[in-house]
Amino acid sequence: MLESIRARLLLWYSVVLTVLIVGYAAAVTYLYAASLLRDVDASLTATATVIAQAITPDISGSYDLNFPPGVRNSLFTDRDGTYYIVWNPRGEVIDRSEFAPGSVAVQEPGTGMIDRYRYLATAGPGDSRILTARSLEPRDAAVRSLGIAIAGAGGVTLLLSFAGGWFLASRTLAPVSRISATAAAMVGGDLEARIPIAGTDSELEQLARALNEAFDRMRAASRAQQQFTADASHELRTPLATLRAELDWAMKRPRTLIEYQGSVEKASHAVNRLTHIAGGLLTLVSPGLEHKTRQDVNLHDLANEIVALLTPLADSRAVKLAVEGDPVWVRGDAGRLTDALSNVVKNAIEYNRPQGTVTMTTRQYGAHAVVTVRDTGVGIAAADLPHIFERFYRADRSRTRAAGGAGLGLAIARTVVEEHGGTIVCASEEGAGSEFIIRLPAAGG
Ligand code: ADP
Repeated sequence: MLESIRARLLLWYSVVLTVLIVGYAAAVTYLYAASLLRDVDASLTATATVIAQAITPDISGSYDLNFPPGVRNSLFTDRDGTYYIVWNPRGEVIDRSEFAPGSVAVQEPGTGMIDRYRYLATAGPGDSRILTARSLEPRDAAVRSLGIAIAGAGGVTLLLSFAGGWFLASRTLAPVSRISATAAAMVGGDLEARIPIAGTDSELEQLARALNEAFDRMRAASRAQQQFTADASHELRTPLATLRAELDWAMKRPRTLIEYQGSVEKASHAVNRLTHIAGGLLTLVSPGLEHKTRQDVNLHDLANEIVALLTPLADSRAVKLAVEGDPVWVRGDAGRLTDALSNVVKNAIEYNRPQGTVTMTTRQYGAHAVVTVRDTGVGIAAADLPHIFERFYRADRSRTRAAGGAGLGLAIARTVVEEHGGTIVCASEEGAGSEFIIRLPAAGG
């Protein structure tokens, strides 16, 4: 492909250059030939004038030709292929130079060609006719020499330009080779491959930078996917191991009814946990917010619904739930927003202390709808705080609820909030409680 780009570049370049050189050579040669012909015509005119001055017609009808001394020899030798002929009005030759061909007839006044001779025919004194002619051989030879010189110089220029063009095309296309080699390595599985950047900031380097960034993102996405798979398998392994152990234990030998009941109960817990993790994973990887599922959602109403939903759980922990604030509207997916907020509220109940409270507040601040979930629970250690939104992250396990969270609740909350264009942050003080602040773009109206 590259070779063909280079070949095509060079082909076009050479064609254009050849046309230019040939055009230039043709123009120069033509102008040179025309100028030499003008010189020939000028010398023929001068010769004809000298001859005309030498002619004296007399009364008897004959003509005398008296050249000034020496002129005849200097003008009309055949050395440069010049000749002349003079006719009387009857067309009879009055005089001619030594080498003038006998076959030449009287010509109409003007210029023209006889064989390879340029001639000038004029009227002389006493209706005589004068013809002077000169061979164009010397002119043609001069034009040929010029043509050969230009062709030689043009050929050398073409060769040098071709070599220069090849060199330039190779240099220009070298980064493209590097880019395609790196892309091929990347496709081949080498996620570390990057295009070398020389720092020239050329268009190709800008392309290389953009591609390197894309490669970085591909590597990050691939790592995230690997991590996700590894985390998910790791989390599923514990309940699966429990299930396996319980089944093995039950099948090893006959057990009492009580023993079977205990084993089935443990297996059932393990299955619940598997279902919980699988459900959470599915929510995390399910495609983001689709346009058609968006609707106007009143977060204040949503908070009341969540409170109603979680009251049994709160009652079982002797935790009081409250909703405060005003109606605030966002555009979004009510189902996914319910998932996200109930995860936060569920945590606020489960990591609370008996007689504690959980307060949800919904308010609008400028263009944002803000939901805060405040609890009076155990709080989160400063070291854990930066990680609580990560998948499968669980802070201090000794305080983690008995049922054992999967560490997916807040990761889901963050994913959903971010796909709605919002943010979720947490402020917490150990022993005093936590506050989660969810900020979403308010619906425009
Ligand atoms: P989990 O299923 O373990 O609750 P989450 O992703 O919902 O997972 O929460 C991650 C961790 O953050 C929890 O294990 C818990 O330690 C901590 N956490 C979350 N919410 C609270 C809260 N309101 N109070 C104290 N700790 C919390």
